[in-house]
Amino acid sequence: MLADLTWPEAGHRAAAGAILAIAVGATEQHGPHLPLSTDTDIAVALCARLAAARSDVLVGPPIAYGASGEHAGFPGTLSIGQAALELLVVELCRSATDTVDRILLVNWHGGNVEPLCRARDVLRSESRDVRVYLPRFDGDPHAGRSETGLQLALTPERVRGELAAIGNTRPLVELLPQLRTAGVRAVSANGVLGDPSEATAAEGAALLEDLGATLLDRTRRWWPEPLPERTGE
Ligand SMILES: [Zn+2]
Repeated sequence: MLADLTWPEAGHRAAAGAILAIAVGATEQHGPHLPLSTDTDIAVALCARLAAARSDVLVGPPIAYGASGEHAGFPGTLSIGQAALELLVVELCRSATDTVDRILLVNWHGGNVEPLCRARDVLRSESRDVRVYLPRFDGDPHAGRSETGLQLALTPERVRGELAAIGNTRPLVELLPQLRTAGVRAVSANGVLGDPSEATAAEGAALLEDLGATLLDRTRRWWPEPLPERTGE
């Protein structure tokens, strides 16, 4: 964890070729049963898994606010919007490249994808080595079986299981036009897109395992792991 280090320690890790991983989440409604931090929690968990698998990964404090305009109207949703998120990521990564050469942004919120990719393109055009990991999985889009299972695997005590109720289960592609113009409120009264009722911690743990493995594999392709130092001789 970068935040636990002192500046000389951070400098030492950077000189050894550290990758800085930053979780990009959101503070937004996740139905009546999941905490507002759910997207951030999942992105943080993915960064932690990566750091556990690779000693050259340093995890920075997460970005806990995202572009969540589509969740407006549900109490607790705190959105900074697309333009602010893009600028935040550009300036944060410019600053970070004073320390590290490689930055990995691990996103878990669909509304962040466009501004994140724009920020990445700006940063890469400045010759900064910034990558964005956008997880893909088969599952319902929001506060449904997938995210409920993930949160059950991470912090079950924060899931209000008795309040988990089915939302709008139409495929996201069909909902997108209305979501873009009128937001989630127009298509789902409880804020859920999917059905959390069958979610289990075991299924969530398996999904987390899969997502973590894909992230590790992708990171290896971007930045191969350093060879272990030779000892003896
Ligand atoms: Zn979410």
